Amino acid sequence: MVYPGTVQEVQATVRWANKHLIPIYPISMGRNVGYGGTAPRVPGSVVVDLGRRMNRILDIDPENASCLLEPGVSYFALYEEIQRRGIPLWIDTPDVGGGSVLGNAIDRGVGYTPYGDHFANHCGMEIVLPSGELLRTGMGALPGKDGADNPTWQSFQPAYGPYTDGIFSQSNFGIVVRMGMWLMPEVGHQSYLITFPRDDDFSDIVEIIRPLAQQRVLGNIPQLRHVIQELATTARPRSDFYSGTGPMPREVIREHAAGLPVGDVAWVFYGTQYGDPGSISKQLDMIKAAFSRIPGSRFFLPSDLPESHYLHSRVSVCSGVPILRELDWLNWVPNAAHLFFNPIVPTRGWDARIVHDIIVRLHAKYGFDLLPTLCVAGREMHYIVNIVYDRSSVGEKRRAAALMREMIAEAAAEGFGEYRTHILFADMVAGTYNWGDNALMRFNETIKDALDPNGILAPGRNGIWPRRFRGKGWEIRGREVEEALDGKGIGPAS
Ligand code: ADP
Repeated sequence: MVYPGTVQEVQATVRWANKHLIPIYPISMGRNVGYGGTAPRVPGSVVVDLGRRMNRILDIDPENASCLLEPGVSYFALYEEIQRRGIPLWIDTPDVGGGSVLGNAIDRGVGYTPYGDHFANHCGMEIVLPSGELLRTGMGALPGKDGADNPTWQSFQPAYGPYTDGIFSQSNFGIVVRMGMWLMPEVGHQSYLITFPRDDDFSDIVEIIRPLAQQRVLGNIPQLRHVIQELATTARPRSDFYSGTGPMPREVIREHAAGLPVGDVAWVFYGTQYGDPGSISKQLDMIKAAFSRIPGSRFFLPSDLPESHYLHSRVSVCSGVPILRELDWLNWVPNAAHLFFNPIVPTRGWDARIVHDIIVRLHAKYGFDLLPTLCVAGREMHYIVNIVYDRSSVGEKRRAAALMREMIAEAAAEGFGEYRTHILFADMVAGTYNWGDNALMRFNETIKDALDPNGILAPGRNGIWPRRFRGKGWEIRGREVEEALDGKGIGPAS
């Protein structure tokens, strides 16, 4: 590992890697939980840990409501600095606040205030290219007066010419050493939850959310969770509820849910509205009226629920306060680790049902509890499945990997693909985006080979292999993923 302290040290590391043809793998803080952590795909890579020493908040501009950050600034650090300076601005945090603001945005992570699309709310980057050259994107490309940064670098994203920022997200085309982010002016907020009694209400719930989200009545990206999550978010182990093997039966979930605050229900919708009290109350009237079409739905405010209920942690996350509570549900099994499966599904009851049925059937086949969270927007939803497994059990790891593999393939056969994935599944997921005889991957490879002719930067990240590695046995396209779990990795020799 190397811990550069400056942009020049990052450039020196890149030049060294080119000279000796040693792959390097940049991370910001390396949390990336559920997606591979700090692990490079190619054994023998040098991990470039940017976050350890490059962790400065370079600027917070209260008038422009923006900031400029180095890779090591966590959500907690940014939040605390804004609080310390008493600036009335919110950050947007993902479910877990320990990661890097910059790293999450370039990996296209999400949060839950109205600024929850992190990449959409970044503005301007500084990037060390695989050659060691330095690039500023957006307005940053136009030098400010007398050597200063451009005064609109954090104000206007695309500037002039092709919008280059996109190709540095979820890619291995450059090392992002600085990034601007927009911050949201503080506003009133009200979190709430709505429960629905029947599993079959799923399609109707999705149909009601769609127009509410398209009209922007819903204030943020709400989450729809299955009631099993009410058990998981108590932070108690699964064994408290069920000692059998295989997925927890529906009757067992029902019996235990009955004793919890929201009761024996099927789906739980977590939302937050923003504005002044009068406007929030009008918004809530519309939302309650819409969902009341589903018989038996019930509405709860945080004050209706005990302090320990998960809704109280949503109040924090949905108003930009970073927390770690989400990790509680890793108590579910001993030695827990987790993997995410995240297909993008249209916000339509029928399409959602197709994916849901695939996921339910394959979880039953491989014996895992289904822990679904749907982040529902107006036109698509991120269907996020958290596979929680015992990492001390090779058998369980293999089953989790096989489950992922089959879900990726079956969802793709129906036309659904993932927005993000664990590094072991990158080749498979990238391989599903194969329209036009793999036109997209050939395009990515053309850029990769042009920018990184020696193939030193994060080979295999997001399924993009530089020419030096391509087609030589590094790609993981099938069952080899289970073999990789013996710890030896995957490469031409194995
Ligand atoms: P976090 O700590 O926010 O979870 P990571 O630092 O683990 O984020 O970043 C997620 C992934 O994004 C990393 O595994 C790496 O592949 C890529 N990445 C992170 N930071 C950078 C960066 N500054 N430049 C290029 N790629 C990066």
